[in-house]
Amino acid sequence: FFKNVLVPYDESEHALSALHIAFGMVGGDPEATIHVVTVVAAGPLASPTLSSDAFDAPDNLSEELESDGIMGPALHRMRTEIQHVVDDARDDASCQIVTSAALSGSPVEGIAEYVDNHNIDLVVMGRRGLGALRGMLGSVSFGVLRSVDVPVLTVK
Ligand code: ATP
Ligand code: MG
Ligand code: MG
Repeated sequence: FFKNVLVPYDESEHALSALHIAFGMVGGDPEATIHVVTVVAAGPLASPTLSSDAFDAPDNLSEELESDGIMGPALHRMRTEIQHVVDDARDDASCQIVTSAALSGSPVEGIAEYVDNHNIDLVVMGRRGLGALRGMLGSVSFGVLRSVDVPVLTVK
């Protein structure tokens, strides 16, 4: 089983499917961690990684981001949706879940940096995301497949 699974999350149904699959990939290991990360475009003063916290204690980050007016509402929605997925899959959800927003120049860059900096051993992501459905693979999925050295599982 995998120990640190990254689910890049863009609020699409595809990314939610990826999260369901990720639970299966850690096999209910309580020491495994699923990292759910949304990449947002970095402004001129932003640091590369804004923050990260445990799913069970999300409040600090949300408040901090809301007061900065950056990303709080999106993070809140993300956590609400993730909680629904965790509730649906409770039997498989004994692993750790970390949610964060990473600031980067592009989603692909942000995901690749996160993989390098957090010991990620598997990426599970949607084949497509929120973009218009043309073709088989979105640009973020394609870019991540080219950029990272760990296995990438793309799901519908
Ligand atoms: P495109 O963006 O090229 O128009 P698309 O939106 O259909 O196409 P992608 O953006 O490649 O497809 O999305 C594929 C997967 O990439 C999503 O299901 C999600 O897992 C991940 N993803 C996309 N954008 C982000 C983001 N900003 N942060 C984190 N993960 C993302
Ligand atoms: Mg896109
Ligand atoms: Mg997209």
